[in-house]
Amino acid sequence: MGASLTPARAARLFADLGTQQQAFPSSARPVPLPHCPVCRRRPSSIVLKADGSAVDFGECGHRFTLARSALLAGLAAQRSA
Ligand SMILES: [Zn+2]
Repeated sequence: MGASLTPARAARLFADLGTQQQAFPSSARPVPLPHCPVCRRRPSSIVLKADGSAVDFGECGHRFTLARSALLAGLAAQRSA
């Protein structure tokens, strides 16, 4: 299995993750993780593979592959989040 994320979706996901990570240590109301694009469940964790080629959502187990263009779009969005 493995849907792929478009650059636009990857950008959105990474931006949301960036917001979530920035809020984490100090916020009394942590920002929830972005939901899975397929099943809309809230994951307990989102893991980016070390080489940046895929994202795994905890809970539902969906995995999305990232083309290089999608990864770059995501990282750029995360930096500017
Ligand atoms: Zn899912």
